[in-house]
Amino acid sequence: MLRTHTCGELRESHVGQTVTLCGWVHRRRDHGGLIFIDLRDRYGFTQVVIDPKDKSTFGTAEKIRPEWVLKVTGSVRKRVAGAERENNPTGKVEVLVLAIEVLSEAKTPPFEIDQDKDIGEEVRLEFRYLDLRRERMQRNIILRSKIFQIIRKYFTEQGCLEIDTPCLIKGTPEGAREYLVPSRMYPGQFFVLPQSPQQLKQLCMVGGLDRYFQLARCFRDEDLRGDRQPEFIQLDFEMSFCTQEDVMQIIQGSLETILKECSTKPLKGGKVGSYPWQELMDKYGSDKPDLRYDLPITDISDLAKGCGFKVFEDALAQNGTVRALRVPGGANLTRGDIDRWTELAKEQKAKGLAYVLFKADGPSSPLLKFFKEGFLEKLQTKTGAKPGDALFFGADKFRIVCNSLGAIRKEVAKKYGLIDTSVHSLFWVTDFPLCEESEEGGITFSHHPFTHPKLDEWDRRHKDPLSVHAICYDLVLDGYELGSGSIRIHDSKMQQEVFDLLGISKEDQQRRFGHLLRAFEYGAPPHGGFAYGVDRVVMLLAGEPNIREVIAFPKDQKAKDLMLGAPAPMPEKQIAELGIKVVAD
Ligand code: ASP
Repeated sequence: MLRTHTCGELRESHVGQTVTLCGWVHRRRDHGGLIFIDLRDRYGFTQVVIDPKDKSTFGTAEKIRPEWVLKVTGSVRKRVAGAERENNPTGKVEVLVLAIEVLSEAKTPPFEIDQDKDIGEEVRLEFRYLDLRRERMQRNIILRSKIFQIIRKYFTEQGCLEIDTPCLIKGTPEGAREYLVPSRMYPGQFFVLPQSPQQLKQLCMVGGLDRYFQLARCFRDEDLRGDRQPEFIQLDFEMSFCTQEDVMQIIQGSLETILKECSTKPLKGGKVGSYPWQELMDKYGSDKPDLRYDLPITDISDLAKGCGFKVFEDALAQNGTVRALRVPGGANLTRGDIDRWTELAKEQKAKGLAYVLFKADGPSSPLLKFFKEGFLEKLQTKTGAKPGDALFFGADKFRIVCNSLGAIRKEVAKKYGLIDTSVHSLFWVTDFPLCEESEEGGITFSHHPFTHPKLDEWDRRHKDPLSVHAICYDLVLDGYELGSGSIRIHDSKMQQEVFDLLGISKEDQQRRFGHLLRAFEYGAPPHGGFAYGVDRVVMLLAGEPNIREVIAFPKDQKAKDLMLGAPAPMPEKQIAELGIKVVAD
């Protein structure tokens, strides 16, 4: 090694020793004729001092700039009284320099490494290797590595084998678009990057491997948000001969271990909760509500029948629902807030956002003139709306009402600071519907098509497929869906019936999933599993607002790698070899 110690290592016990440190110049200060340098590496900072009496080192030190890389040899001494720094573990000592070697000079970086200022994300991502030197990023990457290690240890102790599955595979549906990889050997044919290792982990179970885990890289080509990236890591888990409770217990244990080792916050209510999907949707308009605050939604469909307001009545006539969200203290919301929330509701496909403000001098709303006498009072009784509050309404199909009021509930919590950030809220969601209506009006799977239906409801599949539930469960941490899992279908015939229900033709079933259907004919064990997004867990425990902050080299919000400049055009020859022609826009 070029060094004897790291920059985070020296203590008073080292006083008198001659040491060699390597690191970056974090800061240089010239003070009282001496030069002080804070030398930095991943482990910390050490103050080194250059005395002007030592002409040769002083000459070098005078040229030194921030971010130069140095090798410094010197003797450890106690700092003078008053110059000690309690908040730095090396803050009681310094190194009096005997020799300096400049290992690398550095240009002036495009942003300051030594400050925790807000820096434009674009420049941070373009110079990610400099961004990674900053304390915040180092803290996040260290936490990420720790969480990876906890996961590996925990699942190994649960008897799982760590099995790596390939990335060049065939499509496996998880609800997103796929990344395709053209094949040079077979022009016109493509590999698909896995949205998850779902089918492969199931095939591991058919292969008798019993318990599997993987920190799996998954690829999903979808619209990006703060908690999404085109590629991400999930803890992927599968076990044989299990019930839903067995899977939940093992997964929950892993999260509890991570929280215990990486967070000081307790769980709200002291334990991991569990709620049926329908209850959460009804009460909070979301299957991943942040339960660090309450703010429930009220079903007012019974009151809205014949209330006089056509929008409510029409929604009910079309088998929809009418619901209200009470915003405590919302009577003084501004026009701007209401307009923004209306846009938000429209993004969730609501036609608008009806509201009543209960001002001190009486209720105010464009709707009042439509309401039949007595309706408003009944509304207040049912929702608990008091003077000073506001009510926002959703009147449409169930999912639209839930999505729009659920989105507004989140905004309300942010605006009024209702989130109790001193705790974590971790809970299960169970009893999901197997299928839901697709945007095109047909039926699509709620999770993925390998989920086992509840057996006692399965014979309703033809008459009322949307009423069939799945043996399926999600885990939610602080309002983020960490992941989902299910007991899987392990019977070829049932799997084909589910494909039939989803409208996948027999031909497509064979083309896309023939391997799985065949595997199930050779003795498949009952099995189930789960997967959760590790980036999201790290993000939440690091207290970061998005997952880019906890990934060493993330894509930006437009799915580009700004540092590498990818994706990028390729030489024509290379593209032609793949049997591909690029059609310009
Ligand atoms: N494959 C699922 C996903 O990636 C998780 C699972 O069902 O195990 O969301």
